[in-house]
Amino acid sequence: MIVFDLSCDAGHRFEGWFGSSDDFAQQREDGKLVCPLCGSAVVDKAPMAPAVGRKGNQLATKPAPASGPVAPVANAPMPPEVAQAMVKLAEAQAKALKDSTWVGRKFAEESRAMHYGEQAHAAIHGEASPEEAKALLDEGIPVAPLPFPVAPPDKLN
Ligand SMILES: [Zn+2]
Repeated sequence: MIVFDLSCDAGHRFEGWFGSSDDFAQQREDGKLVCPLCGSAVVDKAPMAPAVGRKGNQLATKPAPASGPVAPVANAPMPPEVAQAMVKLAEAQAKALKDSTWVGRKFAEESRAMHYGEQAHAAIHGEASPEEAKALLDEGIPVAPLPFPVAPPDKLN
């Protein structure tokens, strides 16, 4: 099926659904196409409708790209096996972090304190900017990005 924007000789606009372009031409030739508003059989394809005032024209205004870090996205749904694998990975991450303490934005500070022996070593996870993570790595402090975001617990330790 294809849809055409149609207009009659009185300027009414309406949509018509056809099996094909030939189907449209045939119906028009046979005088089967009539304007639903005034009954005129003088109907033809309307010139390209302007986007203004039409449904769905919200899409015409593109939102400004967000600033800051970006994440990869796709507009296709994940195949079930990928979705399942993601769930498994997320579970594995949660398991790995079970004995780890959430330190939020203090991650860089805490990691440094442990690395330089100012604090007993413990498993922690939290948030760090790419710059902070790079600085830690430069200092020889091992940090690894988590594949999945972690929801901060209500109470910080
Ligand atoms: Zn009409």
